[in-house]
Amino acid sequence: MSAVNDRIRDLEIRHQVQVQRLGSGVLRRLIGLLDRADAEIVDKLLSRGATLKGSFTSVRLQKLLDAIREINQAAHVTVGKELRSDLLAIAKYEVGFQQRLIQSALPIAWDFVSPTAEMLKAAVTSRPFQGRLLKEWVTELSDAKARRLRDAIRLGVVQGETVDQIVRRARGTRALNYADGIMQIGRRGAEAMVRTAVAHTTTAARDELYAANDDLIAAEQWVSTLDTRTCPHCMGLDGQRFELGKGTRTPAHIGCRCIRVPVTKSWRELGFDIDELPPATRASMNGQVSATETYDSWLRKQPASTQNEALGPPRAALFRKGGMKVDSFTNWAGEELTLDQLRRLDEEAFAKAGIAA
Ligand SMILES: [Zn+2]
Repeated sequence: MSAVNDRIRDLEIRHQVQVQRLGSGVLRRLIGLLDRADAEIVDKLLSRGATLKGSFTSVRLQKLLDAIREINQAAHVTVGKELRSDLLAIAKYEVGFQQRLIQSALPIAWDFVSPTAEMLKAAVTSRPFQGRLLKEWVTELSDAKARRLRDAIRLGVVQGETVDQIVRRARGTRALNYADGIMQIGRRGAEAMVRTAVAHTTTAARDELYAANDDLIAAEQWVSTLDTRTCPHCMGLDGQRFELGKGTRTPAHIGCRCIRVPVTKSWRELGFDIDELPPATRASMNGQVSATETYDSWLRKQPASTQNEALGPPRAALFRKGGMKVDSFTNWAGEELTLDQLRRLDEEAFAKAGIAA
């Protein structure tokens, strides 16, 4: 029987791959909302006819800017509300999932204490990540985008550009897949914020769960398996042991994919007389942190189904053939997942492992 803390680490890495996909799913829906607002803003501009020339100081330009500001703000208010409710659902799911994950690795049944819904809500919405609260992140995104749009339109007007030219400045050009437009900056900002918010939420949920079960959970171990190549800071933290709730939190930076995995107490720390246990069981709860893993070496040891989930079937086949190191897919976040799809995948995995709900 492999050590409990090794099994927990493996399950946590698999789960973190899924959380990345979940983030992609949340992101797609929210970006859709922002894209619709952008289209509305472009329509507003185009409705001004061929030129805005001569209207720079006029009341008409101000009205146009006000209308655009309102469209932008309304879209971000909706994004903020949707994101908040998505995150609360994810936090609730994460707490239940983590209990089953840890239980599935333990050789004994454990009676977990669940944090209340109120505690989870407070942890997600009232705790800052990267220095800001969730609602401050959304307001900042909204304001920054409104400012960039306003400046771009004014600049275009001052330079005597046509409405088409101003729209190009805002939206970018088709030839460059709109990557050159200022609206794209807002999209990238939203993407980074949403991914970081999802990581913050799963961390917040775990913090509450571990704190409520500190009779079982002794510490946490930093695992940067998915992140080592992209972030030297996180590479340095890999494998380190932390007291519960102390030290650097994940996400450590925007886009951080690292996790802190729970380390359970040893039999002796739990008050068992280990001399009465069979030797294999005795070794399983040793209270030790796991060895560090790279994503490549971790994924090689996983069943084909997990490799398929992590990379998508075509890439996974390539990976298994051995021609491709997983490092080549470093930025690959997998196919998008909704929370319902994740729930089904987890059910299947637990069923396969013979763990009842
Ligand atoms: Zn990291």
